[in-house]
Amino acid sequence: MTTPLLLNPGPVTLTARVRAALNGPDLCHREPEFQALLARCKAGLLAVYPETRQGYEALLIAASGTGAVEAMVGSLVPADGKALVVANGVYGERMAAMLKLQRKAHTVVACAWEACFELAAVEAALDADPGLTHVLAVHHETTTGRLNPIGALGGLCKRHGLPLLLDAVSSFASEELRFEDWNLAAVAATANKCLHGVPGVAFVVARTAAFEAAPSGASSVYLDLYRYRAASPPFTPPIQPMYALAEAIAEHAEAGGWEARGARYRALAQQVQAGLARLGVRDFLDAPTAYAASLTSYRMPAGLTYDALHDHLKARGFVIYAGQGAFSGQIFRIATMGELSSVDMDRLLAAIAEVLPRPVLQP
Ligand SMILES: *Cc1c(COP(=O)(O)O)cnc(C)c1O
Repeated sequence: MTTPLLLNPGPVTLTARVRAALNGPDLCHREPEFQALLARCKAGLLAVYPETRQGYEALLIAASGTGAVEAMVGSLVPADGKALVVANGVYGERMAAMLKLQRKAHTVVACAWEACFELAAVEAALDADPGLTHVLAVHHETTTGRLNPIGALGGLCKRHGLPLLLDAVSSFASEELRFEDWNLAAVAATANKCLHGVPGVAFVVARTAAFEAAPSGASSVYLDLYRYRAASPPFTPPIQPMYALAEAIAEHAEAGGWEARGARYRALAQQVQAGLARLGVRDFLDAPTAYAASLTSYRMPAGLTYDALHDHLKARGFVIYAGQGAFSGQIFRIATMGELSSVDMDRLLAAIAEVLPRPVLQP
């Protein structure tokens, strides 16, 4: 059997070019060759959103996306700060869990995972508590595929003078991010999602002024972002994943940047949504426009278990993704990140049609 295509939200199916980059020369991270690689990664990350070339810095850490989020939350929310977390899924709740373990004051504005948070509720919480110092949110909540309205939330943060810390792990490099307008103090993401690198390196793009505003709030040595600002890496960096990241960033830029990547994801996702609708399989969220470009969640068709669907598709060369938590068994998810084509999506639709109990063909 050939390697299945990955339709999970990262790690992704690699391009040959990124895979080849893994084979770069062995390096010591205290030598100038490593400095050049690090500089290439940092400059490339800031160039994804050119606005960040001024006043922001990119910090790379050997971790998965969660490691970058935890470093961001731990370091940039000061020990005596107070955060408002907006949560409508696994990843929003995970940020609240981090604050709890870090023993930092916080309040959570939560809503049902299938829902979009109410801006009015967030505004009321901000108005009610003048002691708040930071707002934390998730851009693309991968639990359902919802792209949260961070433009509106960011505007609110800006009006209240509160810095916004954003988990953009599954949106960085494929969705719009407006750093100034949304008052983004920092954004956390990873190499192995929309950038199409390999797992092992994650990063935070943060405002330089955010580091100057307060001492580090970190209660961890390894996840203290302030340490990563030094010219030389504080700990052994993930050199091979960084080779792949540098190449993936170059490929991303050559292909037209985040706009083109988002458009490509969206075209593939719409092809799958339309094909599945014809087979009677419905998207899960209230509106097709609620989804981020990179992932769509679908209702499990009656009479079919997730495992049966997963195993059938895996045998035909596709790995799909299950629902998490309460959505386990109720939904399945299809990401369109990575090296995928519309021909692949046609084959996927044909394979799904084979396994549906009674395909309801609609004109
Ligand atoms: C994937 C993802 C993460 C990080 O997950 P890891 O397993 O640590 O890579 C965090 N937030 C969001 C929104 C994600 O999609």
